[in-house]
Amino acid sequence: MDIAADREMLLSRLIGEGYLKSERVIQAFRQVPREEFVSASDRNFAYADYPLQIGHGQTISAPHMVAIMTELLKPRSRNNVLEIGSGSGYQGAILSKLVNHVYTIEIETELVMSAKNNLERTGCKNVHVMVGDGSKGYEPGTPYDKIIVTCATPEIFQAWKEQVKEGGIILAPVGGFYHQELILLHKTKDGFKQENHGGCIFVPLRQG
Ligand code: SAH
Repeated sequence: MDIAADREMLLSRLIGEGYLKSERVIQAFRQVPREEFVSASDRNFAYADYPLQIGHGQTISAPHMVAIMTELLKPRSRNNVLEIGSGSGYQGAILSKLVNHVYTIEIETELVMSAKNNLERTGCKNVHVMVGDGSKGYEPGTPYDKIIVTCATPEIFQAWKEQVKEGGIILAPVGGFYHQELILLHKTKDGFKQENHGGCIFVPLRQG
């Protein structure tokens, strides 16, 4: 099986379907080996466009969802980004190719270990993985240009609103257990402006 060919096939599909748009994001998808972020038994499905189990009831998001979120984030090389929900580390790895620094926080200790491992193995050096409850954000890395939430959240928490820069954005799936709306908030000097980017399904945020 030719994994590089599988990766290119997925890329063509995500480009054709309009999920991948910008050259930098396409290059990042090309550079990150998704097979290193899935469980060994799922390696053959690493380039299928659906979520996969990564243990502890959690999933690595489907590639098209990672593409949608990464494009909406408009990552810039000088950006400092906070991700809530490291999971496998894959979204963090994609962002690591596009921004200056990624802080990613994960509540499940064992997933923190595997995310760190995956990121180290794939040479992503500008990603800092922390264990903790991301609903409180992560103060030491503030202020952030962008905050990306990759678990379903009932609300946009105050800590995120405070920890993002003016001119920055928060991107999060907001809603209940079975359905969320992908919400993008722009922080302006007059408050937050909201865009809605459609329905999605993520595993829920847990507060600890
Ligand atoms: N971005 C990940 C997928 C995330 S799945 C990837 O690329 O693989 C959602 C993750 O959010 C799960 O790993 C879950 O344990 C984590 N999570 C849930 N509640 C959290 C919280 N309060 N703080 C940090 N992480 C949380």
